[in-house]
Amino acid sequence: MEGGRKMSGSATPKELSPKRRRMMDMILAIGGMKEEQAIPLNKVNEAIGDLKKELSPLVDGIVSFPDSYFTKFLSTAKNAEIVAEIKDNGVLKDAISNLEKAIEISPTDALQNLLKSLTDTLTASEAAGKEKDVFTEKLQEVISKIETEPETALYLLQQNLAITTRYGQPPCHVECPAGVRTQRFVNLTRDRRFDEALQLMRDTYPFAGTLGRVCNAPCESRCQRGLIDQPVSIRNLHRFLADNERSSGKIKQPTPSINKDEKVAVIGAGPAGIGCAYDLARMGYPVTIFESKPKNGGLLRYGIPSYRLPRDILDEEISYVQQHGVEILNDQRITKPSELLTKGFSAVFVGTGASSSLKLRIEGEDAKGVFHALEFLDDINLGKSTELGKRVAVIGGGNAAIDSARVSLRTGASEVSIVYRRSKSEMPANEMEIEDAEHEGIDFKILSSPVKILETGGKVTGLRCIKMELGEPDASGRRRPVPVPDSEFDIEADSIVVAIGQGIEADDYFSDLEYTEWGLIQTDKQSLQTNVQGVFAGGDAVSGPATVVKAVGAGKKAAISIDRYIRGESVSQEISTPRIISATIDVDRAQATEERRAAMPMLEAEGRATTFDEVELGFDAKISATEASRCINCSISNMDITVYGGRIDPEAT
Ligand SMILES: Cc1cc2nc3c(=O)[nH]c(=O)nc-3n(C[C@H](O)[C@H](O)[C@H](O)COP(=O)(O)OP(=O)(O)OC[C@H]3O[C@@H](n4cnc5c(N)ncnc54)[C@H](O)[C@@H]3O)c2cc1C
Ligand code: SF4
Repeated sequence: MEGGRKMSGSATPKELSPKRRRMMDMILAIGGMKEEQAIPLNKVNEAIGDLKKELSPLVDGIVSFPDSYFTKFLSTAKNAEIVAEIKDNGVLKDAISNLEKAIEISPTDALQNLLKSLTDTLTASEAAGKEKDVFTEKLQEVISKIETEPETALYLLQQNLAITTRYGQPPCHVECPAGVRTQRFVNLTRDRRFDEALQLMRDTYPFAGTLGRVCNAPCESRCQRGLIDQPVSIRNLHRFLADNERSSGKIKQPTPSINKDEKVAVIGAGPAGIGCAYDLARMGYPVTIFESKPKNGGLLRYGIPSYRLPRDILDEEISYVQQHGVEILNDQRITKPSELLTKGFSAVFVGTGASSSLKLRIEGEDAKGVFHALEFLDDINLGKSTELGKRVAVIGGGNAAIDSARVSLRTGASEVSIVYRRSKSEMPANEMEIEDAEHEGIDFKILSSPVKILETGGKVTGLRCIKMELGEPDASGRRRPVPVPDSEFDIEADSIVVAIGQGIEADDYFSDLEYTEWGLIQTDKQSLQTNVQGVFAGGDAVSGPATVVKAVGAGKKAAISIDRYIRGESVSQEISTPRIISATIDVDRAQATEERRAAMPMLEAEGRATTFDEVELGFDAKISATEASRCINCSISNMDITVYGGRIDPEAT
C-alpha cells in the first residue's frame, strides 16, 4: 500500500459530494495517506462509519456467496481468530462476526488487514499460476487503483459491493421463493459439472427431482432469455440433475449434523414442513415431524397424481431429509401446537396446509356422482376404486381441476370436459398441464359457470351452466366474469368433480391459534410467528392454496426465525431477500441469435391417457448442457463487462 500518493481520476476533490469525499478520504487513509493529508480524526471516524455501512452488505455477501472469492481472502486472512474459527468450527458466520468485532475495535487495522489479505490472496494465486477469473481481475484493479486513482477505485469497489450483495442478482434467483441460486447451477450444468450443480440445489432444498417435475417455475417467467426467444428451461434442468444422479446409482448419503440440544417440532410432512425441518436439521437441531397421514409429502402425495410425480422420486427425496436426522412420526394428528412447547420442544412449526375442497353450494351438490377434487384425488392416489362412468364434467381452472380431469381419463372415463368461468389464459393451472390436458382430448368449456347439478333419483345426470363474458377487472386484476342473460345450456354427465379451490375446514382449526378473516393461520409477515410465542407457521395454511416452491420457501424462512428465537435473538429483524437493480437486466440483446429452448421428450399422446406412467420423459446430459448454455448470465452486467456470448465462470455467479 506504499507508493503513489497523489490523487488522480476524472473528478477533482471539490466536485465530490460530502459522503463520497469522506469515503475517498477513508480509502486514502487506508492507502497510507493519513499523515500527509492530516485528515482530522473525526473525519476519519465518520468515514469509517460510512465504510462500515458499505461493508455490512459485503459481509452479507460473504454469507450469501461463501464459496466465492471472499472466502479466499478469509482463508488467507492474517486475523488468527478468523482463520481459527473457519478451521476449527467451519462456521463462517462466526468468522464474519469476528471480522465485524475486529472492525469495531480497530476499524483502520481491520480494513488494512482486509485489503492486505486481498492483495496476498491475489499474489498467492498468481504465484500458484492460477487462471484469473473476471472477479479476481476486477479486484486486482480495485487494489491497484486505491493509491493512484482513488476515485476510480471507489467506484469499482462499490461495483464489487453491489455484485456481492443481493443487489444485482439475476431475476431467476430473485423470483425463486426458495432462493435457488439458479444462474450458478445453470452455469455448472452447462459445464457438465452435474454433481456440483445438484449439490448447489440441495444446499437450498432437498426436492430437485420433485420440483424439477411440478414446480410452476416462477424463475422461467422472469428469465431474461425469454426476451430474446424463450426462457431457459430451468425446471427441466433441475429434474435432469436429480435423475442423472439416480441413474448413475451414486446417490450421495448425507451425514447428519445434529449438534444442538433444543428440539423443534414440525406439524405436517408437506413441502412447507419438510423444507423447514431440512434447514433446521442442517443447522444442528433435532427435529420431529408429526404427520396425521400414514405417508409423507402432503399434497405432493395426496394431490398431485403419479403420472406427474412418480412416488419413488418423492419417497427418495423425503428419505434424504430423514438421513439428515429428521424424525417423522406418522398417524399423529396434533390439535394444539402450543402443547408441544410443554413437551420438551423449544419451538414449533405448523405446516398443515389447506387441503379441504371448497363446496360449490349449488342445487344438486349432494347427489350421488358428485366428487370433490381433493377427496377424489386422495382416493385415486391411495388406489381406491371410484365409479365415475363415461362422461365426467370437472368444474374449476386450477391444478386440481386439470389433474382431476386427466385422472378421470386414466380411470376409465372417455368424455371429460372442464368447465371454467373465465378464459383459458386466466386459468391458474400450470400452462404445461393445460396443454397436456388438451393433447389428451379434454374438452375445455370456458366462459361457462355452473348453476345447477342435474339429477334423477338422487344420481347425477348432468350440469346446467350459463355462458359468461368478461367485464371490468376485479381485485385480483383479472377481468370479472359476468353471466350472459338467457344463455343457459346443459352438459350430460355421469359424474361431476368440483375443483374450485381449497381452504381449511373450521373443524380443523387449532384452538390456540388465531385465524384471519379468510380462515388462514394469522402470522407476523416478517417472522411467521403466530399469536403464540415460539409457534411459527407457513405454507398453504398461511397463504391459502399456493405452490410447492412457495411452501418450501415459507418453511425455510420459518427455520431462520426459529433459529433466531431459540438463540434468544429478535425474530422481527428483516430476513434478507434477493433484489434486482435495473442494471441486472441490461442485456445486450442485439448480439443474440435465436435459439429455441429444448423440447421435453414425452410419452406418445395416443394411449398415455390410459396409464399412470410418467408423461414427461426428461432431458439427457447433452440436451441439458446445451439448454443451459442458452443462459445469458444477465446479472453480470453490473461488472461492466460484455456478457452476451461470453462464458462466465460459475464460481462468479
Ligand atoms: C391436485 C393438486 C395439484 C397441484 N399441483 C401443483 C403443481 O403442479 N405445482 C405446484 O407448485 N403446486 C401444486 N399444487 C399446490 C401444492 O401442492 C401446495 O401448494 C403445497 O403442497 C402446499 O404445501 P404445504 O406443506 O403448505 O401443505 P400440504 O402439502 O397440504 O401438507 C400439509 C401436511 O400437513 C398434514 N397435516 C394437516 N393437519 C395436520 C395435523 N393437525 N396434524 C398433523 N399433520 C397434519 C397433512 O396431512 C399434510 O401432509 C397442487 C395442489 C393440488 C391440490
Ligand atoms: S438468462 Fe440465465 S441468469 Fe438470466 S434469468 Fe435466465 S437463467 Fe437466469
